[in-house]
Amino acid sequence: MTGVVCVLVAALALAAGIVLGRRWGRSRGVVPPTAAPPEPALADLLERVFSATDEGLVVVDRGGAAVLANRRARELGVVAGDKPDARAVAACADVRERGTTVAVDLSPLAARSRRPAAVLARVRPLGDGYTMVEATDTSDAVRLEATRRDFVANVSHELKTPVGAVGLLAEAVLDAADDPAEVRRFGTKIVREADRLGNLVTELIALSRLTGAEGLPELSRVAIDEVVCEALHRTRLSAEAARIEIVVDKPIGLEVEGDQTLLITALCNLIENAIAYSPAETPVSVSRRQSGDAVEIAVTDRGIGIAPEHQKRVFERFFRVDPARSRATGGTGLGLAIVKHVLANHGGEVRLWSSPGTGSTFTMRLPLAPDHAPVHTGGTS
Ligand code: ADP
Repeated sequence: MTGVVCVLVAALALAAGIVLGRRWGRSRGVVPPTAAPPEPALADLLERVFSATDEGLVVVDRGGAAVLANRRARELGVVAGDKPDARAVAACADVRERGTTVAVDLSPLAARSRRPAAVLARVRPLGDGYTMVEATDTSDAVRLEATRRDFVANVSHELKTPVGAVGLLAEAVLDAADDPAEVRRFGTKIVREADRLGNLVTELIALSRLTGAEGLPELSRVAIDEVVCEALHRTRLSAEAARIEIVVDKPIGLEVEGDQTLLITALCNLIENAIAYSPAETPVSVSRRQSGDAVEIAVTDRGIGIAPEHQKRVFERFFRVDPARSRATGGTGLGLAIVKHVLANHGGEVRLWSSPGTGSTFTMRLPLAPDHAPVHTGGTS
């Protein structure tokens, strides 16, 4: 039995119960004979249930006309005037013939319609040639499924490139077996592709944990200065290789509640990007400051910057402004998606200011631990 039918049955039982209860009460003299508000009639209660349900309900007669329809059914476009959607009418005829419930897709056919994007209905026999259409807005489920499909397609595509490269390079190694210099050259490339595969898989696992239902593992107090110190330590080699100096401000002595490893990963991703998207010999700075009951860690570079139309999209999985450049720097296209989810899981957010040709500032904003002693200055210390 569906929810609606249950509700109808419950309403019937309730109404019958109220009526019987009243009668029984009066006959036993339990209910005082004061003027109680008149009880609603059973038909009135059923009418209320019919109107209040979230499902679009239409009762169709054997001629295919709608004899009853609630407001939701009109909103979902299942019925217009007394005419049900032609697909619903055909399903009703089918149900009358077979005597069993059938499912029918009643999604709008015109893309520009203001109705929900997806509507699914079940049609049931009610007897005597009547049928009932129960329609539900399934747009959210359809959107979710489309996102999931896109993600799987993107992941497959991202994995295919390095896997294909490893295969080709391995063949090249076999062909050049007698030439040690070539073997070394192809071997080095295989190692690079294997690293890329490893990073991609690690980041995919991190992202799926972050977007999963479990939330953060163990919350503990995390010192912001330790996060900054460890992230600088981990990105030192990349900075040296790119001849980029990382300028850092003084410790701030603030704490947040969260997962230290994830916060370090997020900050590392921002610093690695600042290095990857800046020319050599330009500085990158990391600064922290208190802002109200939050702490902000900003990573600023004087690199290529991001055009306004791309600024929102850079946090999407696999979005890259310039896929060739990202690939050349070993990017997975997942770094900023991870940053966004880490911050969201900590009740914070990541903000972006950027100007092409000038540079970018990514700011991680995190709520301070609840009983943290207030710090007197608002500026960077
Ligand atoms: P990737 O692995 O490609 O770096 P990210 O998710 O970290 O993936 O970043 C997504 C895209 O955002 C990058 O491909 C790049 O186009 C852009 N981007 C990120 N950080 C910066 C930055 N500091 N300066 C310029 N562009 C950036």
